[in-house]
Amino acid sequence: MKKKVLYEGKAKIVYETDEPDRLILFFKDTASAFDGEKKAYIQGKGVLNCQISSLIFQILGEKGIKTHFIKQLSESEMLVWRAERFLVEVVVRNIGAGSVVKRLGIEEGKVFDEPLLELFYKNDELHDPMICEEHVKVLGLVPSEAIPLMKETALKVNEILKDFFASHGITLVDFKLEFGRLPDGRIAVVDEITPDSMRLWDIETGEKLDKDRFRYDLGDLLEGYTKVLKKIKES
Ligand code: UDP
Repeated sequence: MKKKVLYEGKAKIVYETDEPDRLILFFKDTASAFDGEKKAYIQGKGVLNCQISSLIFQILGEKGIKTHFIKQLSESEMLVWRAERFLVEVVVRNIGAGSVVKRLGIEEGKVFDEPLLELFYKNDELHDPMICEEHVKVLGLVPSEAIPLMKETALKVNEILKDFFASHGITLVDFKLEFGRLPDGRIAVVDEITPDSMRLWDIETGEKLDKDRFRYDLGDLLEGYTKVLKKIKES
């Protein structure tokens, strides 16, 4: 049962429950981009993201990836383990798109020979800058033993999700993962894994099915997310 609000973010509300170690993530019908400058209310987005995220966490769990996911509670709520969240985001890219295209002066769509891994500092005031491992160490953002584990896990997740999406007609372009320490002391993937946090292109048509639809007004966001959910639910 939901109790008090622990935290409200741009796309989710985190609630405490009767059990101190378990939290409820409620997926809101809101979209935001460009550091919160562009915002919209999109009815139905929360339900789609909750279903997509739950399915992906289930798949990762089956493949031996430790995550905070316990179960989907309702169409827009997920039950998760409480985590002490690290202030570092790990981005893995298979194809150039978004910020890396501007940063490195490459063409969108450039296929990387190997997955490219980047770290970002979760800090609103600094606008989430890209940082390197040495910065993470100097700032003490994560326990030192966690860095190699996070990198290794992110690359494993990439292999699992790249194959999974490809088998459902979708190219996994890039994605962002967050990590934290669970009550049992283990480091796990936390937060959400949705088309808000991944770039997904239709393998056949190249159509963008993710949040870039909202960022760059490419088409109806719900239509893209609905296509993703429909495809990944097909066996
Ligand atoms: N991403 C995210 N949260 C962030 C920043 C990025 O989920 O705060 C995701 C984004 O949706 C994309 C990947 O991480 O799938 C890489 O994002 P990028 O660095 O290209 O930034 P963007 O251009 O999307 O702001």
